[in-house]
Amino acid sequence: MAHDHPGDEHGQHPPSDMELRVKALESLLVEKGLVDPAALDAIVDHYEHKVGPRNGARVVAKAWVEPDYRAQLERDATAAVAELGYSGRQGEHMVALFNTPAVHNMVVCTLCSCYPWPVLGLPPVWYKSAPYRSRAVIDPRGVLAEFGVTLPPEIAVRVWDSTAEVRYLVIPERPANTDGLSEEALAALVTRDGMIGTARL
Ligand code: FE
Repeated sequence: MAHDHPGDEHGQHPPSDMELRVKALESLLVEKGLVDPAALDAIVDHYEHKVGPRNGARVVAKAWVEPDYRAQLERDATAAVAELGYSGRQGEHMVALFNTPAVHNMVVCTLCSCYPWPVLGLPPVWYKSAPYRSRAVIDPRGVLAEFGVTLPPEIAVRVWDSTAEVRYLVIPERPANTDGLSEEALAALVTRDGMIGTARL
């Protein structure tokens, strides 16, 4: 159940047994007239265009400006995220990871491609790729360097593997010299990769 995500194509790799089963099931349902292919397209379109990293960015910006919200996010991220209207599949059990001056957090799904859809939309292709999934754990600093991020040795890197029902959202540190900015302007500074942990703001 934790790794049930039909419609999730795993990049350049041959389809897995599960993906073939999903395809077969989809074809059968369409053939029998039980499912409208347009409805399936609408679901994909929803995640690609309406849901997306802007949702997560709003969560991050709110956590930056409202200490109470930040505390709630620490206590129960699922509820805190739902408060902004973001919930649903692949977001049932959210955990927020707070970057600090001493700790940088980075998220991976070593088993497949679990990703917090309600706050980040659909995962980028590299997130689902075998090299990222294996190397993020073995050599996180090497992977970060490839993303252009070089962390000084005194900053610890913590890698979180989403191989349970839990979906992680990295809360980057608020950039310096942003005191006067509105929540909306702050949200515009938050990148998708910053919330996966493969970028710093
Ligand atoms: Fe997965």
